[in-house]
Amino acid sequence: MEKLIKGLRKFQSTYFSTHRELFEQLSLGQKPRVLFITCSDSRIDPNLITNSEIGELFIIRNAGNIIPAYGAANGGEGAAIEYAIHALGIEEIIVCGHSHCGAMKGLLKLDSLREKMPLVYDWLKHAESTRRLVTENYANLEGEELLDITIAENVLTQIENLRTYPVIHSKLRQGHISLTAWVYHIESGAVYAYDALRHEYVSPSSALEALEPEELLPRIQQHSSGWISSEQADRIYQGSRR
Ligand SMILES: [Zn+2]
Repeated sequence: MEKLIKGLRKFQSTYFSTHRELFEQLSLGQKPRVLFITCSDSRIDPNLITNSEIGELFIIRNAGNIIPAYGAANGGEGAAIEYAIHALGIEEIIVCGHSHCGAMKGLLKLDSLREKMPLVYDWLKHAESTRRLVTENYANLEGEELLDITIAENVLTQIENLRTYPVIHSKLRQGHISLTAWVYHIESGAVYAYDALRHEYVSPSSALEALEPEELLPRIQQHSSGWISSEQADRIYQGSRR
C-alpha cells in the first residue's frame, strides 16, 4: 500500500502536472474510439501495449476476457457493451486474450475448481463453448500447445458471443462496427490479430499496410510470421467452423 500511495504523489507531481490540458478536456466528457475487452491478468496493460492515451480505450476486464452470450448473465459486461456502443458511439471492439492465461488453464480443468473456487467455476461456465470446442476438436493436443489453442479459440468464441447482443447485431448489419480478435504474447510483447481471410493469427500491422509507418502502433513488435504454426492455425479455423 505504501508503494501505491507514493505512486499517487508521483503521478500528481509528474504525469498529471505535465498533462493538465488533457485532464481538463477529459473532465468535460469521454470520447473513446475503442471498446477493449481483456483479461484481469496484471501482466496486461491495454494502454501500454497499444501506446494509447487516457480516454482512448473503454475497457472491460474480467477473468478470461469472457463475454457471456446475450441474456446468459446479468453482469456488468452487457451493460458496459450497451453503453459503449449506444451512448459512446464506439465502432471498434477488440477482444484481447493473452498467453499463459490462468483462467484458460482453469477452463481446461474446470471440475477441479468446483469446490475450492465455486465463483470462478460458475464464471468459467460462460466459456463452455470454448471448452467443448477444444475438447472435441483438439483431443490430440496437451500442455502448452493445448493452452495456446484454447486461448486463441476462446477469443474467437467471445467474438461470436458479442454478435448475440442486439446493439451489436444491428450495427453489424449496417456495417458500422468492427470486431477484432487479438492475442497478446507476454514474453515477446507481440500482439497477434485473427485474420478471417487467412484463418490465422497474424501481426495486426499487416492490416495497416496502407498507412504510413509512423501511424503503426509503435509498441507492438513487428513480426512477419504468425504466432502459431499454420498447421495449428488451420486447426483453429476448422475448430471454429459452426
Ligand atoms: Zn488471463
